[in-house]
Amino acid sequence: MTTEGFASVPTAVQVDHDLSIESLSKFYGDFAALDDVSLAVKRGEFLTLLGPSGSGKTTLLMSIAGFVQPDRGDILLGRQSIRHLPPEQRNFGMVFQGYALFPHMTVYDNVAFPLKVRKRPFAEIKKKVDAALDLVQLGAQASRYPRQLSGGQQQRVALARAMVFTPHLLLLDEPLSALDKKLRAELQDELKRLHKRVGLTFIYVTHDQDEALSMSDRIVVMRDGKVVQKGTPSELYERPATSFVANFLGKSNFLRGKVESHVTGGFVLTHQGVRIIQASENRNRPAIGQHVVIALRPEKINLAGNDGQIDNKLTGVISEWSYLGSQFRLVVDTPEFGDVVVMMPTWGHGEPPIARNVATIGWERSAGTLVADA
Ligand code: ATP
Repeated sequence: MTTEGFASVPTAVQVDHDLSIESLSKFYGDFAALDDVSLAVKRGEFLTLLGPSGSGKTTLLMSIAGFVQPDRGDILLGRQSIRHLPPEQRNFGMVFQGYALFPHMTVYDNVAFPLKVRKRPFAEIKKKVDAALDLVQLGAQASRYPRQLSGGQQQRVALARAMVFTPHLLLLDEPLSALDKKLRAELQDELKRLHKRVGLTFIYVTHDQDEALSMSDRIVVMRDGKVVQKGTPSELYERPATSFVANFLGKSNFLRGKVESHVTGGFVLTHQGVRIIQASENRNRPAIGQHVVIALRPEKINLAGNDGQIDNKLTGVISEWSYLGSQFRLVVDTPEFGDVVVMMPTWGHGEPPIARNVATIGWERSAGTLVADA
């Protein structure tokens, strides 16, 4: 496999081409599909726009591509505004959910198409198409037609076609969503490898949180046309700012209570007579008397014995449990906080839990995260 065809031509990534989105808004009538979105995309990063259906991901991507005209704000490539540049002059590669290949053209001709449109010389076209097909491991299928390829192969042709003209960046809108689970996982790995190898900036749209967590350098979580949080996958997973992010990216239990007192490195909240200790940096410590929400990941809770030293304990009845192969999923119905979901490894836990048994669950004060209830 070679990236020679990519490295041998001047590419946008050799130039300073960070993308900046500045206070971008897009209205349809009174409805804001994008509401004051600002974002800086670093050169060469794999940035994912993640959010539920209708949150504005595609509108943002299409604004970057030039197919949607924003009503306010600006889009800069480096220091230059591209807001009024037509899509073809932005030089961005695009891959969509459908493969959108030309059915009457071979794989080779499909991939060559952007270069032919740009009237590149024959020898350059051949070299770059060969390199692009090599990159997606489809060199041997060059003379086939799209209908003779699997869904995954067709999407790889679409990728090769989007990268063959060494675009400034690659925009991908749910490119894997039409594929079955196994193929999807394979192509996720392949996309990640491709991204590392070619060093292009990828802006990737998905509503699949696992995909976002496993592939991205950084994730931007969107909701109702707004950016609600951005950060690395682990930052977002470990320190979600809001209950929405905590529940959209992974699953969380939410414990609501009132701050009773401050302790070193944290605070105590109470609810229906139960005291919960929660870690927090002093500068983020909520005031005494404040109502707070703690997000607690199911895998950070354990079944606790009566003897061990653990910061927080609750007792309830196991109302459900399921065996998921690597983990048990338990629902413990507690009198104070209702259902608490617990995930624990099956390995090393011996006997499975028993439904309707009383269980004590426990977690350390640093396991939870204080989140805004939004
Ligand atoms: P999905 O994951 O379902 O693709 P999305 O996050 O990409 O959703 P968008 O397609 O950006 O969401 O749409 C954002 C909102 O803007 C939606 O409520 C949608 O109905 C609305 N919208 C998008 N395009 C138009 C349009 N041309 N006219 C009117 N409303 C639109």
